[in-house]
Amino acid sequence: MTRQLSPDDDPADSPTVRALAHAGTHEELILGSRAYCREAVREYDIDVAFSSVEWEVSTRAKRRAAAVKRPKLPDAEVGEPVDWNGAADRLGRSVPELRTCTLSLTWAAYESFDVGEWTATLRHELVHVEQFQRYGTTDHGPEFRERAAAVDATVKCPPFADPKYVLTCAACGRVVGRRYRDCKLVREHDQYRSSCCDAGVKCSRE
Ligand SMILES: [Zn+2]
Ligand SMILES: [Zn+2]
Repeated sequence: MTRQLSPDDDPADSPTVRALAHAGTHEELILGSRAYCREAVREYDIDVAFSSVEWEVSTRAKRRAAAVKRPKLPDAEVGEPVDWNGAADRLGRSVPELRTCTLSLTWAAYESFDVGEWTATLRHELVHVEQFQRYGTTDHGPEFRERAAAVDATVKCPPFADPKYVLTCAACGRVVGRRYRDCKLVREHDQYRSSCCDAGVKCSRE
């Protein structure tokens, strides 16, 4: 049995996830990721106010697939709901300014992850946003671990490395996939055909 493999290969069914898998620009990555996150908070019951979330794409981040950039609130602690008005008064800043965090998406990670890895990354970051909005800070402690498990995300910030494996069309040489770890596709690449030339798929280590 052979399967077709194209640069757009995507196992997910949701139209949002399908669109997300096809992002070709920074703008599309933000739009697709934001649309997915809005679905995910409903599906997984994550408490996030998107009005206080800004988005950016990083082309410089090297090790983190994504990150939540946020103001540091002195004395904030996970488990202790933060008094935003009090904190803003003490720091001489407005609540909206203090409460705004930025979800920074690493472009190269998006490119090397499959869409399932990317949506799991987004859910991990949503738990950070949920904690920050509730407590004024976030970490990877016991409460985070519990929430991450509940939303089917990894506990550690998803690691990201340059892809180790490159899949190319055996006929024309075009890249039809990249994977950063040994996965089923890497092991069984001879089960796939390229969509460009309907030829075999070669796998090589970078
Ligand atoms: Zn994290
Ligand atoms: Zn080809």
